[in-house]
Order: sequence, then structure tokens, then C-alpha cells
Amino acid sequence: MINLVLFGPPGAGKGTQSDLIVEKYGLIHISTGDLLRAEMKAQTDLGKVAAAKIEKGELVSDDIVIGMIKNKLAANTGAKGFIFDGFPRTTAQAEALDVLLKELNMSVSVMLSLEVETPELLKRLLERGKVSGRADDQNEDVIMNRISVYNASTLPVKEYYKAQGKQQEIKGVGSIQEIFQAISTECDKSL
Ligand code: UDP
Ligand code: MG
Repeated sequence: MINLVLFGPPGAGKGTQSDLIVEKYGLIHISTGDLLRAEMKAQTDLGKVAAAKIEKGELVSDDIVIGMIKNKLAANTGAKGFIFDGFPRTTAQAEALDVLLKELNMSVSVMLSLEVETPELLKRLLERGKVSGRADDQNEDVIMNRISVYNASTLPVKEYYKAQGKQQEIKGVGSIQEIFQAISTECDKSL
């Protein structure tokens, strides 16, 4: 079983690489961003709360995202493992994930951090905004706020996994296949 935390700033390539990892390792992909967007689309109460945060590039509360993760884990018992994409985004979320996994006799195998510099992220997100229809990818101020929220609230998560000896950096610039190769090499160590 592999439980992979795919970490990195907005626009680092987590979603793109997740698709390739799912194909190769048969893991269940959990993207809290995708789950939140589905709630927004369905105009649920949760979706409305999330929308107010997402449009400003702020974080949705720990309680909400942890609850979504809990549901997903419960709905996929017997899975070969999971990719957590865009989660945990705070140290409190990382601690909660450890507790949830432990209750199911699982643990995080490895945390892979995709490393990409801010100017490249901005460029990629503005490009994605042209086709994704995502409002949060079309406004430079919102993008820059997402990156500063990442630096302030999410980067400490890296130290959390480093302290557990589970953190590994991956160069997030290069061809999609090159980056996938580097990720695969790390995943294979957890098989
Ligand atoms: N978001 C959040 N918590 C999460 C996932 C997403 O608060 O666990 C919000 C946050 O406002 C973020 C937006 O949803 O800017 C988009 O998240 P997503 O992970 O899709 O964007 P990415 O970082 O991959 O570009
Ligand atoms: Mg994403």
C-alpha cells in the first residue's frame, strides 16, 4: 500500500502528475480542491462557504477539508492506497490526517514536494486560467495571494513531514514525463 502526499504550490503540477500516478499505481486520487469545486457547482451550503474563500485565494477551514477527507477514506475501504493532492494545507490538517489514517491502520508512506519558482507558477496559472474557466486562475492578485497563503500556512507542512523523515523534494520543472519518472522512482521505494 502507498499513501502519497503530493505537495507543492498552486500550479506546481500536482493534478497533472496525479493522473499519471493513478494510472501506474492504481491509487485513489483525493484532491480537496476538486471536491470543493464539485460542492460549489452543486451549490451546496458547503460549496457556498468554500466559494467565499476560494474567490479570494484563502484557505477553506480545517474542519471542512478534514471532514471531506474522512468521508473519502470511509468510502474507499480496500483501496490500494491514496494520493492526497492539495491536502494537507496546514499543519493541523497534517496532524488530523495522521490520526484518520492510524484509525484505519494506515500511514503516510511518503510526501513528495514539487519545487517550482513563483514566476513560473504565475505564468502556468494564468495559462491554465484561459482554458480551465477557474476564476481563481484568471486574476493575478488572487494567484499571488494563493502563493503567499501557501508560503505562510502550507510550507510548514513540509517541516512536519521532514521531521517524520518522509519528505522528498522533486524538481517540478522539466517535461511531464521527466517529472513523472522522478516521482515513480520515489513511489517504487514505498512498494
Ligand atoms: N482549497 C482549500 N483547501 C484545500 C483545497 C483547496 O482551501 O484543501 C481552496 C483554496 O482557496 C485554493 C483553491 O481551493 O486556492 C483551489 O485549490 P486547488 O488545490 O484546486 O488549486 P491548486 O493549488 O491545485 O492550483
Ligand atoms: Mg490542483
